Amino acid sequence: MSSPARSSAEQLLAPVQFLKGVGPERAALLERLGVRTIADLLFFFPRDYQDLTDYRPINQLEEDKWISVCGQVEEVDFRVWPETGRSMVGVLVMDQTGYVRAVWFNQLFMRDKFRRGQRVVLTGRPKRRGLVWELHHPKVLWLEAEEQPPPGRILPIYPLTEGLQQYQVRRLVQRALDEYAEYLEEAFPPEFLQSHQLWPIQQAIRQVHFPDDQASLQQARRRFIYQELFQLQLALALRRQAQSQRQAPVLQCTALIDARIRRLFPFELTEGQNQAIREIAQDMAKPVPMNRLLQGDVGSGKTVVAVYAMLLAVAHGYQAVLMAPTEILARQHAQTLEGLLAASRVRRALLVGGLPEAQRADLLRRIADGQIDLVVGTQAVIQKDVQFAKLGLVVIDEQHRFGVRQRAWLKRAGLDPHYLVMTATPIPRTLTMAFFGDLDVSVLRDMPPGRQRVHTYLADQSRRPAWWAFFRKKLNEGRQGYVVAPLVEGSEEQETANAVALYQELSEGELRGYRLGLLHGRLPPEEKDQIMERFRRGELQVLVCTSVIEVGVDVPNATLMTIEGGERFGLAQLHQLRGRISRGNVPGFCCVFANPTTEEARRRLEAFQNTTDGFVLAELDFQLRGPGELFGVRQHGFPPFRIADLFRDVDILAQARRDAQALVASDPGLARPEHARLRQLTLRRYGHALELGDVG
Ligand code: ADP
Ligand code: MG
Repeated sequence: MSSPARSSAEQLLAPVQFLKGVGPERAALLERLGVRTIADLLFFFPRDYQDLTDYRPINQLEEDKWISVCGQVEEVDFRVWPETGRSMVGVLVMDQTGYVRAVWFNQLFMRDKFRRGQRVVLTGRPKRRGLVWELHHPKVLWLEAEEQPPPGRILPIYPLTEGLQQYQVRRLVQRALDEYAEYLEEAFPPEFLQSHQLWPIQQAIRQVHFPDDQASLQQARRRFIYQELFQLQLALALRRQAQSQRQAPVLQCTALIDARIRRLFPFELTEGQNQAIREIAQDMAKPVPMNRLLQGDVGSGKTVVAVYAMLLAVAHGYQAVLMAPTEILARQHAQTLEGLLAASRVRRALLVGGLPEAQRADLLRRIADGQIDLVVGTQAVIQKDVQFAKLGLVVIDEQHRFGVRQRAWLKRAGLDPHYLVMTATPIPRTLTMAFFGDLDVSVLRDMPPGRQRVHTYLADQSRRPAWWAFFRKKLNEGRQGYVVAPLVEGSEEQETANAVALYQELSEGELRGYRLGLLHGRLPPEEKDQIMERFRRGELQVLVCTSVIEVGVDVPNATLMTIEGGERFGLAQLHQLRGRISRGNVPGFCCVFANPTTEEARRRLEAFQNTTDGFVLAELDFQLRGPGELFGVRQHGFPPFRIADLFRDVDILAQARRDAQALVASDPGLARPEHARLRQLTLRRYGHALELGDVG
């Protein structure tokens, strides 16, 4: 053990190698699981538990009651149904009193985990099937030759990695608990624990790993789930509070200004647009910076809302900037603005890479002098060089949240601008609550009138000839289309290869004689923009691409889409792809070729075929796949949750959110000494992602 002179925090932050039984090799394995320090190991929560408190001889099983049996493998069998890709593995297990059959559906790998004669403990809920008891998807403990079944208690099941066994991890965690748990400090003040019925850390940390019974297990888990969600909510509440202490220009929307802006739009605004504009105008009339997220499906008309907000700033003599993630999107926005502002005196500039040096210098100078009102450009270019004379509003397109250092470029004395962030990815309500508590949210749920829905077909291979015939017919009528290659998670190389192969196949086959382009993520950005531009101008009729076209490019004449390998895409991704062909007032046609092998994939694809409402699809995707995958939490700079699950723990989330807001309201900046520990832990975990370094 380490010398007692070290502080408790240091003890816990020591590398796992300090633990007996952990050498360099095992430390490397643990590292793969994200465990580097003793503290990491203590907070390495079980992913599941096997409850061995009720062992039964097989002849004393009861329908549907959680039990464990200990026996010997007699026989392993399996079946595969090639048409559907479904499978079933059966393992017959015997003890002195009878037989029980363990069954796994669509987990073919289970058949390799059992050998005849091997002794196992199975835990599950028995069901009668004729004369035999069955356990569906039981939990399994594999016993060594002479090993006795463990005594009747609840065993933790940890995530593993190749080369590390379950019993080894259990032993290490037990040792860490014995030697180091006492150094863990409580984050919550005692009254808080009491009033929220949370177990103290010392009790909870032991029971979460090796619980005495189901009730203790639930209590211990609740404490850590609550703490994890609470700390994120606390960080968001602190950020919100810090922002509310900054100052921004008061930009009141008068009836005159409103009328002048509306006159520019050639159409009536939708109810959703009007509502969003009201919310934005209220924010901008306050002396604190607006921090608003505008969510709306592709084509719902977010740009118009952004233009309104920008003109409101300009009407007060302030500058506004609209930032897009790519050059082509920036150009597209500039074009839209040209259309809307042709008759107005608003002075505009487009700032993208590759401008002639003299022109660029001139633009920058005029922006700095205040001779330009409205700037459109890419984030990269604007953040790199632009100084504004009097910036009142920043609009960021196609982004979920302000990137970490995005504010830094503007930080200086004086007023902050107002912020509006737009995203076309509908975000499920729970995730909005979990991750955007520092922002206000406006949602465009309705579409401008006259929008046609996209006809979506889910097809198998036999439909290919008919679909391509239809595709060609539409091309001959002057339409354009996309062909999306199968997604390859984690291998851009393979994905690119797929797209290249598909391009060649189509050029020589079904789409021979048509003008095809190829677009994938490995092309240099200028080349991508060039190809996209040729497609936009109609020089190319068909764009074969990887999922890179996801982000909002507007080619109204493109109304056809073929998606290959549809089962590999998430629902949100499919929806984003389809959004590319739902821009105009002509109906779009989307055909998804898919070979779903799981129930989940089947449901996902059917939902995609039957629903076009992005918000409905987002909620469904969240249910089917869970928040992590859907949303790329990591992309946003948040560390992943260790124990909380937003789908399962939504009630705890709501509670934690209310509690966090109340706490920050009662103790701004968490300055009181009894909150010092909580504040420290929260800043350590979220300070970086949320730029909280300067709080308090
Ligand atoms: P997105 O939300 O995807 O950014 P846009 O702002 O680009 O959507 O709008 C999509 C199209 O709908 C544009 O061509 C725009 O001119 C048009 N549009 C927006 N609002 C309305 C409206 N209220 N009535 C009719 N057309 C509209
Ligand atoms: Mg847009």
